[in-house]
Amino acid sequence: MSTPLLRLIPTDPHWEPEPAAIERARALLGRLLPDREIGHQAYRSVFFIDQGENFEEVRCPRCRTVLDVGWWGERVNRAAEHGFADLAVRCPSCDLDTTLNDLDYRLPAGFARFELTVADPPPDGLPAAGLSAIGQALGHEIRAVLTRY
Ligand SMILES: [Zn+2]
Repeated sequence: MSTPLLRLIPTDPHWEPEPAAIERARALLGRLLPDREIGHQAYRSVFFIDQGENFEEVRCPRCRTVLDVGWWGERVNRAAEHGFADLAVRCPSCDLDTTLNDLDYRLPAGFARFELTVADPPPDGLPAAGLSAIGQALGHEIRAVLTRY
């Protein structure tokens, strides 16, 4: 079995932290989860921060319809051709104008150009208070993605 990876990403896909903020957030994460391997990655463009085998389904955030994986994958591929600069999509069921990042992923996933990572995190992840404290250290609200391959 592979090692799970906890990935903390800004809720705004295009947002990037300053180096000093990255250091603050890494230091805090190291105190919250001692003895874990902490890392970070900054990307040149936005990437899909996927949950790997933890993918269950994608729903519209308004009408709750489970979106067809083929429909969704086609839109991800189309957005990828342009470095995910434009994430806009329209729900085929209720016509909601939203973005790939704002769809309801089970388990959570998202789009980002920066991530903090924790290899082999505790099974129950980070407490919500830890998540918001790391967001404050980083300078932006964050979303937790648990990836398993
Ligand atoms: Zn909808």
